[in-house]
Amino acid sequence: MSSDVRFIDFKSDKQPTWCPGCGDFGTMNGMMKALAETGNHPDDTFVVAGIGCSGKIGTYMHSYALHGVHGRALPVGIGAKLANPELEVMVAGGDGDGYSIGAGHFVHAVRRNVDMSYVVMDNRIYGLTKGQASPTSREDFETSTTPDGTNMPPVNPLALALSAGATFIAQSFSSDSQRHTEIVKEAVEHDGFGFVNVYSPCVTFNDVDTYDYFRDAVVDLDETDHDRHDKDAAREKVLDGDTEYTGVIYQEENSVPWEEREGLDENMAEIPDGAPEGAMDLVREFY
Ligand code: SF4
Ligand code: MG
Repeated sequence: MSSDVRFIDFKSDKQPTWCPGCGDFGTMNGMMKALAETGNHPDDTFVVAGIGCSGKIGTYMHSYALHGVHGRALPVGIGAKLANPELEVMVAGGDGDGYSIGAGHFVHAVRRNVDMSYVVMDNRIYGLTKGQASPTSREDFETSTTPDGTNMPPVNPLALALSAGATFIAQSFSSDSQRHTEIVKEAVEHDGFGFVNVYSPCVTFNDVDTYDYFRDAVVDLDETDHDRHDKDAAREKVLDGDTEYTGVIYQEENSVPWEEREGLDENMAEIPDGAPEGAMDLVREFY
């Protein structure tokens, strides 16, 4: 760990191929700033990304990185963190990657509460494959594959996380650089699984959920009007389908990361002959 790391130290020499104006630029800048301002160093950081426009982020950031299989970034990140608890693990992806093929991993990563962060660039569309409806697309969103809309309610990632037992749930807007950075910093510093859904507009294929739309629609929650530790208040906010909230929606007080829970090693059902004794040693052996 080093205190003199600048956010630019987390930037690689690769030029992003994202479309000019893509929300992912702002999302990534906030991630880099959050890592630097929380005292992390690229040599101690592992960024795992899924597939999609967002999945390219591990190439554009300077750190250890893995651009993995579609929807499977979370289990890779969890494995790395358990194998090397000193590592700062940040998983990144998009709404398609995380809430469609990766939805099962998302729910169980939330439940497990390993000490890491998960940043989802939610543009409510599949951008890389040129504009199909994603899990968070509006019900009436017309695309080449959904000419009459999806006729399905969108996935509500915040509600999904809350119902799965999340200990940290936040939302930010990539264009509000300072606030987005603050929120990702809080996710990094949280003791457990810090989940941030980021409104990160796709300027090429989504002409509904645009910068202008979010600028008008976002309602930022601060400590004076929302108690982040109040689960009932959080439930009310995440189920309010009419308001685009940003801020820390819920944070469990005294969250204990899964890997630090007492009795974890003793609770291992069966350790194969010749394997290391403890659960964490066992994980390290295999990663
Ligand atoms: Fe960004 Fe959309 Fe372009 Fe992908 S297609 S880089 S999400 S603007
Ligand atoms: Mg998307």
